[in-house]
Amino acid sequence: MFYGYGYGMFYDPTYILVVIGAVICLIASARVKSTFSKYSRYRSACGLTGRQAAEEMLHRNGIYDVQVVHISGQLTDHYDPRNKTLALSDAVYGSTSVAAIGVAAHECGHAIQHQKEYFPLSFRSTLVPVANFGSAICWPMILLGFFMTSNTGYFLIMLGIICFSLSVLFQIVTLPVEFNASHRALVFLRESQMLDPAELKYTKRVLSAAALTYVASAAAMILQLLRLILISGGRRRE
Ligand SMILES: [Zn+2]
Repeated sequence: MFYGYGYGMFYDPTYILVVIGAVICLIASARVKSTFSKYSRYRSACGLTGRQAAEEMLHRNGIYDVQVVHISGQLTDHYDPRNKTLALSDAVYGSTSVAAIGVAAHECGHAIQHQKEYFPLSFRSTLVPVANFGSAICWPMILLGFFMTSNTGYFLIMLGIICFSLSVLFQIVTLPVEFNASHRALVFLRESQMLDPAELKYTKRVLSAAALTYVASAAAMILQLLRLILISGGRRRE
């Protein structure tokens, strides 16, 4: 999610903040892909596929109403609380690698959060429509504000920044949700002895690389917000 590419028309020096954010995201994304593909080649000793590992973890946590399904694509794995579906991608669903088991267990971590009504997850779900609305209207509002010379213009920019902040908040709330799901996954894989200590170390690397992509997205959003605040300050002095 990179907001505001169309906003580069202003060519101001603060645009560098947007570029830095985009570069951080690209690095994090390349890193998770290479780490995942590296540990996709390590077959786990337990021999369970991502799907089997997920079902085992769900059942051991008393969850029987979550459906584990296959989804196409790369790193498209997710848990959907609306229909209680745990979707595992091509390289996870039928794979017996330590990376696949790690990702499957992470998604189960979200299903467990949902079952236990883990607060950051519920709060994040509540934020979805608000953040979507905010990100849809913030840029038109800010652009319009810049074309208006009166105080109304300044007011519109401020309102746009507040709307953008909702998306930033969403990215920040995502962090505890993701870290907690990985933590639940690693604790389960260790305690159930599904993975041995060496395998666990590899799985942890995959999940840490994945977590960093969320940190990068949040950092990129904060940098964009900072930029908006800086340019709106400049606009006020004009
Ligand atoms: Zn996750």
